[in-house]
Amino acid sequence: MSAVPDVERYRLRLEQRQAQLQRLLCADEPREQSVELDQGKVGRLSRMDALQQQAMADAYRGRAQSELVRVRLALKRIEEGDYGYCVECGEAIAAGRLEFDPANPLCIGCANKASS
Ligand SMILES: [Zn+2]
Repeated sequence: MSAVPDVERYRLRLEQRQAQLQRLLCADEPREQSVELDQGKVGRLSRMDALQQQAMADAYRGRAQSELVRVRLALKRIEEGDYGYCVECGEAIAAGRLEFDPANPLCIGCANKASS
């Protein structure tokens, strides 16, 4: 049994987020390639701009990628009936934390420990 009574609602939100992140990560691929292809044509300054933009896009992609992993792990916990329990200590995660971020794997106590 899951600790979360409205787990289906969270599953829906997680599945929507997963689809959104997958679309975002796929849509980014061709744009990155075109930055490289255009490098010969653009001047030094705009090349630096392009590199900077690419670095930002990479960082953004990295964040999206790690969020996607979090979301997938949360969906896996729903499958296994572990959803809503802290992955560190096994305590129930407060409903408000899941409402804010359905992929949240930690209770407030462990989240505070992890960030300090
Ligand atoms: Zn915990």
